[in-house]
Amino acid sequence: MTAALLDGRAIATRIEASIRTEVETLRTVVGRVPRLVVVLVGDNAASASYVKSKAAAAARVGVDAEVVPMPASASTAELVALVTSIAADERGPADGILVQLPLPGHVDAQAVLDAVPPDRDVDGFHPENAGLLSQGRPRFVPCTAAGVQRMLLDADVETAGRRVVIVGRSDIVGKPLALLLTNKGPGGDATVTICHSRSSDLPAITREADILVAAAGRPRLITAAMVKPGATVIDVGINRVDGRLVGDVDFDGVRGVAGRISPVPGGVGPLTVAMLLANTVLAAELRLGRR
Ligand code: NAD
Repeated sequence: MTAALLDGRAIATRIEASIRTEVETLRTVVGRVPRLVVVLVGDNAASASYVKSKAAAAARVGVDAEVVPMPASASTAELVALVTSIAADERGPADGILVQLPLPGHVDAQAVLDAVPPDRDVDGFHPENAGLLSQGRPRFVPCTAAGVQRMLLDADVETAGRRVVIVGRSDIVGKPLALLLTNKGPGGDATVTICHSRSSDLPAITREADILVAAAGRPRLITAAMVKPGATVIDVGINRVDGRLVGDVDFDGVRGVAGRISPVPGGVGPLTVAMLLANTVLAAELRLGRR
């Protein structure tokens, strides 16, 4: 068997087209487009490249994006003050505010993220948005988790009643994805297991998955022997190995066993960016009382 490819770029292109229409409608009806402000701290090359792709995608759909660079030496207090001033619209109305992670080690990242008001929290990391998701009434869903669900919906992968195994329990990917897929409704109703670095006999658990999501940040952690034949395998991982981007899945090996597989790059990454744009438009529409 050779798994069918889940083409994140193609899905993201379609999503961007519909977002562009929504942005144009806002421009016509309320006279302004949604605005996203991204805070980028320090000179981490990967973060700079993610921010660049977010800004480029925003430009493609007509969302006004501003990147505010801060030196790596910025303190927690300075970053909290910056986010607070952005939230006070001192630089123009900011519908969405995003602080690119990771922050330098000396910064209290939670304090900075908590300074983002929940109604501008387009990354969906604020406790209020996490709480709404866990209660099954999501508002801003973390973009990568939303992107994985969108990929499954787009490919008509049934989730209701299916066994999903997520490898990774982070607050930004694994946990919100588990909630999304267990909640009621389309793209949900799954039976979800979350694995992590302390899980024992990982292969025995992953082999039970109809849908296997790898979000551990460990290059080629998931091998063919860990995959049930015909399963859908979604690779969230982004790892740099010898100058190349690879996922958490041994793509060449797993492709021979799985039914569907997402590549790295070109899988979940573009969908994460598309979901950020969708959240930014949602934030603007909520602020304008249009939703
Ligand atoms: P994280 O480091 O916060 O969490 C990793 C999780 O994996 C932890 O819960 C840990 O317990 C688990 N883990 C680590 N090693 C394991 C092992 N050997 N067996 C089982 N579990 C193990 O990472 P994160 O922020 O959730 O990101 C995970 C990966 O996804 C990274 O590679 C990151 O770069 C990538 N990522 C991609 C996108 C995207 O848009 N495609 C977005 C966010 C993160």
